[in-house]
Amino acid sequence: MPTHEVLNQPPPLQNYDPLALDTALGEGVRREGAGWAEGEVHELGLRAASPEMLDQGRLANENPPKLKTHDRFGHRIDEVEFHPAWHELMRFSMSHGVHAGPWREPREGAHVARAAKMMLVSQTEYGHGCPISMTYSAFPALQKEPKLLEEWGPRIKSLEYDARFLPAAKKTSALIGMGMTEKQGGSDVRANTTKAEPQGQGTHALTGHKWFCSAPMSDAFLVLAQAPKGLSCFLLPRWTGQERNAVRILRLKDKLGNRSNASSEIELDGAQARIIGEEGRGVQTILEMVNHTRLDCVIGSAAMMRHALLHSLHHTRHRKAFGKLLREQPLMQAVLADLALESEAATALMLRLARAYDRRDAEAPFRRMATAVAKFWVCKRAAPMVAEALECLGGNGYVEESGLPRIYREAPLNSIWEGSGNVICLDVLRALNKEPEARDALLEEIHLGRGADRRLDAAIDAAEARLVKPQEAQARSLVESLALVLQGSLLARFAPPCVSDAFCATRLARDHGFTFGTLPSGLDAAAILARAFPA
Ligand SMILES: Cc1cc2nc3c(=O)[nH]c(=O)nc-3n(C[C@H](O)[C@H](O)[C@H](O)COP(=O)(O)OP(=O)(O)OC[C@H]3O[C@@H](n4cnc5c(N)ncnc54)[C@H](O)[C@@H]3O)c2cc1C
Repeated sequence: MPTHEVLNQPPPLQNYDPLALDTALGEGVRREGAGWAEGEVHELGLRAASPEMLDQGRLANENPPKLKTHDRFGHRIDEVEFHPAWHELMRFSMSHGVHAGPWREPREGAHVARAAKMMLVSQTEYGHGCPISMTYSAFPALQKEPKLLEEWGPRIKSLEYDARFLPAAKKTSALIGMGMTEKQGGSDVRANTTKAEPQGQGTHALTGHKWFCSAPMSDAFLVLAQAPKGLSCFLLPRWTGQERNAVRILRLKDKLGNRSNASSEIELDGAQARIIGEEGRGVQTILEMVNHTRLDCVIGSAAMMRHALLHSLHHTRHRKAFGKLLREQPLMQAVLADLALESEAATALMLRLARAYDRRDAEAPFRRMATAVAKFWVCKRAAPMVAEALECLGGNGYVEESGLPRIYREAPLNSIWEGSGNVICLDVLRALNKEPEARDALLEEIHLGRGADRRLDAAIDAAEARLVKPQEAQARSLVESLALVLQGSLLARFAPPCVSDAFCATRLARDHGFTFGTLPSGLDAAAILARAFPA
């Protein structure tokens, strides 16, 4: 319409260099042993931020998957149909090894490099990260069963996405999903009622249901079921030989967000499955998978925070109000700097945690505790942070086209799945009580920051005091304090003084209000912002 000229609107956020703009990510990748992968991460990032890939992300969410239970003749088919954009996203991430890089080429920094890639592809689109993550995470659990690993390992490691619904033996690659949660219990998996009847030679027939089964078009799932000796872990393929296995997809969930990803309810009607690990020790077996998906929850939430921050920094660099760019207004600077602190702390913790997955044996005790602590805290911080970042865009942020509503709807999810907040905090208490070496390893890492800042030292003392006889009802405040001193220790050692000083003042000495942007005076917000978005 020729009624007006469009003024004071920012250009679209696309065609940027996500690694170059994310100083904390780039420094962290080098620090945590993956400097060798910088070129690959950089290349992936450029493509991830291209208008073409960002559009695939939009299309995959605007055109959610459809369940086809029957064909036109009435035969059951139990297939989910995805928009081509979904397949393109899967192809992109798999071609860069986000689903299997460290298993293809195990080396120092491989999990860190993969974490950085996951962080960047997540910013293109979050939903497809679910099957990517479950496939990555299933591999170490399969290592407990060499015969199954021999059969499935090469398919998992393939870089070629194969979307065809065929027996796995006919495909170039395979995706793996997970089935633990049932109607009567998700956190309490010991309440699982799905039965596993032995058929001989390690094969069982599974009968029961799974209330949440994301990525039902995966080629196989790791599921829990009650065998004669107790809850056990099984590999359940979608096909047995040339036949479809007895896996019925009943419904797809109508979810708050994560709309590109099909999350289903399934029934198993004597479905054929192979046992993994020892019968009766299913929880211990599947935990290997769960821990890796928990790492991915931390990566995903760190990605959401960075992504939302980037949108708010970009918008406020271009948008003027009251005669000045928003970014130059002192109160907006306080909000943006506060968001940048939260994002950098999440990124630093996420990368340090990923490194513990590289040091499989040496850092097992640290990984045990840090996975739970980081899963609770980083995932919990995503939702409030995304909400505040969205407001930086004003009304535009509330409009679907901005992309922020998609991140906002996604933000609570990582805190729910793979162990909801309370369950994770109770897990930390369990580890504190039963695994003193895990507690010591966490404290050892935290203590590396001692002496750098008196506020950090005081917060470490206070967190340690809480470790004496921790009570169940106080588990959240205990885990929160451990997470904060761990982040503080990392930032005190590795971030520039403007960041660590502000983190210690606001998160450790608690000179901060209940909302983002309540920074005390005397902090260098401009320096924090210059780091978060280098010009
Ligand atoms: C989009 C989506 C996809 C999913 N995909 C999968 C999948 O592919 N495979 C799969 O197996 N599962 C999947 N899940 C399920 C998810 O892992 C569970 O929802 C989650 O583990 C919580 O279990 P629940 O829903 O049964 O809640 P409940 O276990 O009933 O918990 C409800 C609340 O109570 C809290 N709580 C539980 N026990 C205690 C306690 N002792 N003390 C204090 N508080 C407690 C929990 O923290 C939670 O806040 C998915 C969920 C979602 C939302």
